[in-house]
Amino acid sequence: MKDLKPITPAGCPEIKRPIVIAGPCSAETEEQVMTTARQLSHNGIKIFRAGIWKPRTKPGGFEGVGTPGLKWLKRVKEETGMYVSTEVANKGHVIEAIENGIDILWIGARTSANPFAMQEIADTLATADIDIPVLVKNPINPDLDLWIGALQRIYNAGIRRLGAIHRGFSTYGKHLYRNMPQWHIPIELQLRFPELPIIHDPSHIGGKRELIAPLSQQAMDMGFDGLIIESHCDPDCAWSDAAQQLTPEVLNYILHTLVIRDEKVSTESLALLRQQIDNIDNELLEILNKRMAVSREIGRYKKEHRMPVLQAGRFNDIIRDRVNLGKEMGMDEEFMKTLLLAIHEESVRQQIEILNDRKQ
Ligand code: PEP
Ligand code: MN
Repeated sequence: MKDLKPITPAGCPEIKRPIVIAGPCSAETEEQVMTTARQLSHNGIKIFRAGIWKPRTKPGGFEGVGTPGLKWLKRVKEETGMYVSTEVANKGHVIEAIENGIDILWIGARTSANPFAMQEIADTLATADIDIPVLVKNPINPDLDLWIGALQRIYNAGIRRLGAIHRGFSTYGKHLYRNMPQWHIPIELQLRFPELPIIHDPSHIGGKRELIAPLSQQAMDMGFDGLIIESHCDPDCAWSDAAQQLTPEVLNYILHTLVIRDEKVSTESLALLRQQIDNIDNELLEILNKRMAVSREIGRYKKEHRMPVLQAGRFNDIIRDRVNLGKEMGMDEEFMKTLLLAIHEESVRQQIEILNDRKQ
């Protein structure tokens, strides 16, 4: 993917990093769209977002206002001068969006995971032969090749205003994040395609308001090009993604407190690596915590069945197998033993606690 052009529409004056795209998760009513847009524009936002067609996990949810909403976005353009963007998921969406003057298209995480849908969109764009920016969200599953494939289909359709959006990856169970950031995936994308701009989406990664600021800062520290953030004039009453939307005022505050470091300073790659270490440590702790929870569950089972906590055979097998696995991965044998013994010791301590606790 070479000779890329800026991801802003043709003729748009250069926007200083970060490029910010803001607006509600969904267009709900003309009034909600206009009120939000006016406030954002007043705060200097240049690119507005609003979902017109919403891919919902379950049937029966709010699936977007559809075609009538496109007229509202047209009004946003006319009244505020902002560029407008929306999500497209099929041929019909692309045609309607272009006909109604949408300036930037983005492709959602459920769509970018589907090569048939991606090809349909790419073919429609090729036929339209139009110089429109297209942003491709990462697929919901952590598959870099699938993401690259989706981007390549759009590139092959002749689109040169091409960018990627990092919106995190879905996982089973409850976590701090709604979608796990897995920062190493967009970093790998950046290393493979240095020209390709990457926009960070803290709203869909964080899933809650308080995570928007730290995630945005992290993305800036890692040298991402921009942010797409959900903002709603009355977030608590939003028809979709209420927990993660910010008022334009709070968004403005967050954007003004972001520290934007010069990309060219020589410590940038060190900061990038340190950031990776921080993220990996967080993941490590989360996994360790999950292991302890399972271990306590085993403790309760053992208590119920009057089994001893320590079963030497099982203990030896665990240590031997894991040490060998670690060695195969290139890790030091002594280090593996020390680490595994420490983890095991803590598991045993927690199980004994359960055994002695009359309430459990
Ligand atoms: C959205 O941007 O509102 C959206 C539906 O995002 P995603 O495709 O990342 O879930
Ligand atoms: Mn949303």
